[in-house]
Amino acid sequence: MKKIALFPGSFDPFTKGHQDIVLRGARLFDEVVIGIGNNSSKQRYFPIDYMLSKIQDTFVNENNIKVEIFQGLTSQYAKSIGASHILRGLRNTTDYEYENTIAQVNNFLNDDLETVFLITTPALAYISSSIVREIHKFDGDVRSFLPYPL
Ligand code: ADP
Repeated sequence: MKKIALFPGSFDPFTKGHQDIVLRGARLFDEVVIGIGNNSSKQRYFPIDYMLSKIQDTFVNENNIKVEIFQGLTSQYAKSIGASHILRGLRNTTDYEYENTIAQVNNFLNDDLETVFLITTPALAYISSSIVREIHKFDGDVRSFLPYPL
């Protein structure tokens, strides 16, 4: 059976840090599905359809990496696409505290689901979507943080 990992997130925007996790995950699993969570109560900075097409462009040459938008619970979505694993990145202890709780809840909701964490590549550890948004808002140059042109 094909081993599918779901990499869920807001990806507002998708950064080189995310790209690194996806490419490393794609070496561990048969397929990685990048799931952009569409949480309607959360106002986005970059429109979701725009981000979908940017991420698709980024992985156009990788046939085991897919991108989709999903609504609702991550654990339910994982089940619906046949994913046995959730992939997440860990940058620091703050990520760890948050991810630990989320992983346990997801496992409680769907006990077939295992979360796998990849430790960030040190050179990319300082990149976060919120910092990129902040720089972009004030017309700063964000090109070096993103794997695609805006
Ligand atoms: P969410 O809104 O669900 O936290 P994000 O889009 O912020 O989603 O992040 C998705 C995942 O990517 C998380 O596991 C996060 O820790 C990880 N991540 C974010 N930035 C980096 C980075 N620079 N390097 C590695 N992982 C990262």
